[in-house]
Amino acid sequence: MYHNLPRDASFWAFLFSIDQDLAASTRQKACPCGGRLHCANYPRKPRGGGDNLPEPYGCRLSFCCDREGCRKRVTPPSVRFLGRKVYLGAVVILVAAMRQGPSPRRVRELSRLFGADRRTIARWQVFWREHVPQTPFWKVARGRLVPAVEIVVLPRSLLEAFVHTDDDHQGWGRLLRFLSPITIAGGLTIKVAR
Ligand SMILES: [Zn+2]
Repeated sequence: MYHNLPRDASFWAFLFSIDQDLAASTRQKACPCGGRLHCANYPRKPRGGGDNLPEPYGCRLSFCCDREGCRKRVTPPSVRFLGRKVYLGAVVILVAAMRQGPSPRRVRELSRLFGADRRTIARWQVFWREHVPQTPFWKVARGRLVPAVEIVVLPRSLLEAFVHTDDDHQGWGRLLRFLSPITIAGGLTIKVAR
């Protein structure tokens, strides 16, 4: 199955609107201390999206408690950014998936398409193959997938489970939302099973 990112700017605008929803529900919950959350976005310069990225992609939505003495930062999950990775989450999924399968795309071709170098792409493969399957998130989340997704083919199997056509905005939205718990602090914590 062949996958690509939808090429139009409306795809990125669609993902941004999901991030706004996620941020709104985080803000409603307020700070654990009872303080109100104020906007305190992080500046970002995400890579891999070409020239089509709308202006709001220069920030990761985040909040800060307004109570003196607390000032705790609360960053909502995101469908645009995968934790602190510089590249857009969709690109980190897609490129790693294209390296898998019966006829993997060449690193050179992927570099040309998405701008990531050989070492970065290799790191993403390790991230999906070794890191993600060890997370508490994945141990719970994989049970919700039907049919159960095989670890050996992450993230390709995730793409196949969620995204059904080249221009499947909704599918990408569902996949990135599904993965969004791993985009916040602690979401990727590794817990070794006893
Ligand atoms: Zn607070």
